Amino acid sequence: MKVLVVGSGGREHALCWAIAASPLCDKLYCAPGNAGIGREAECVPIKADDLDGIVRFATSNAIDFVVVGPEQPLVLGLVDRLEAAGIKTFGPTAAAAALEGSKGFMKDLCAKYGIPTAAYGRFTDAASARDFVRERGAPIVVKVDGLAAGKGVTIARTVEEALAAIDEAMVDARFGSAGTELVIEEFLDGEEVSFFALVDGTTALPLVSAQDHKAAFDGDTGPNTGGMGAYSPAPVMTPALEARVMREMIEPTVRGMAAEGRPFRGVLFAGLMIVDTPEGPAPKLLEYNTRFGDPETQVLMKRLMSDVLPALVASRDGVLKNLQLRWYDDSALCVVMAARGYPGDYRKGTEIQGLDEAGVLPDVSIFHAGTVLSADGHVLADGGRVLGVTAIAPTVRDAQSLAYEAVDRIHWPEGFCRRDIGWRAIGRG
Ligand code: ATP
Repeated sequence: MKVLVVGSGGREHALCWAIAASPLCDKLYCAPGNAGIGREAECVPIKADDLDGIVRFATSNAIDFVVVGPEQPLVLGLVDRLEAAGIKTFGPTAAAAALEGSKGFMKDLCAKYGIPTAAYGRFTDAASARDFVRERGAPIVVKVDGLAAGKGVTIARTVEEALAAIDEAMVDARFGSAGTELVIEEFLDGEEVSFFALVDGTTALPLVSAQDHKAAFDGDTGPNTGGMGAYSPAPVMTPALEARVMREMIEPTVRGMAAEGRPFRGVLFAGLMIVDTPEGPAPKLLEYNTRFGDPETQVLMKRLMSDVLPALVASRDGVLKNLQLRWYDDSALCVVMAARGYPGDYRKGTEIQGLDEAGVLPDVSIFHAGTVLSADGHVLADGGRVLGVTAIAPTVRDAQSLAYEAVDRIHWPEGFCRRDIGWRAIGRG
């Protein structure tokens, strides 16, 4: 099978690493890929949101199966375009990707199908949004409807902060068209966790749980980032809670999307808040993403014992019912190394050494997120998040030690990482 993975981050490196190991994969391409992905796949210089370029490449190279990594091309309809050209593709259509692309759509779906989530209102004018905030009080959460790369959410501790967030989106148009509509919702207090399921339109196959660290610095301090590390499993996610998430969220979502004429195929990534109630911990849905997480995919792929490719194909073909996946019980943990200054301004083009010395450690994989090869074959940083140093071990504490042992073999003075990835899980153990 000739396979094309679309994207260039750590998530796509982890997917390429897993797909390249499949006996079903004869040839693997990645568009556009990065220096690390170039070891698993042939990288082709086509950007992930260049829909015409990807369809042209897939058609002229007789690609059998495409796996789309990032959300932007999904929401833009890459899956629709490839399928219309007769190319099997893993991931949701644009209509189904609205679960991530429009928070208002996702909240209305939850309301209609009884899926537990924060109480909310949808607004297209600033005056009614302000009235709603004044009536409900703070804390309250203001979200722009469309994609905003994780920056469109304000957790407002005061009414004034919420009113400022409304003005930023609706009056100053800081998020462009993504912010012409707002969702304003109840603040939920609890522990955040992610849960993943593969879906084929009608059947949902549970994958596993993970937790990430969004804040830039140790102790979960500093500005929010795309994710500074992750681990799987998440100890807060008991088998009983997983069963509830499948029953109360994932399955009604799959039924609801089919009933709405937008059957969902691909991976459903549920962002959950586990809240304490008098009856015990209960899951509430914060958001859906309609693709794999980054850096969560790095730990998921390390834990997956089964071949990933047949599972992705079964999701596309509607035959997940016949599939079973096996996972390692061990813990996987990923430490993200980022360029100094990230998530603000940072330099590109600095050299990274010691990758081979780190990568030879058993049970360690160095997934590249933002790297390029120089003309003379050196690995250079080429983004904010640059590497995902990922280890698997019997306990999360061992996985953490191993990941940092690998980090310490990497020589990159212009980079930094958090030193406490996994602290919450280790604290529980
Ligand atoms: P990302 O894709 O980066 O997670 P997003 O823009 O899709 O971000 P959400 O996931 O909806 O937005 O929210 C981002 C973060 O804000 C959540 O991970 C959570 O920490 C916090 N958050 C969102 N909604 C609530 C809520 N109702 N109560 C408390 N915290 C919330």
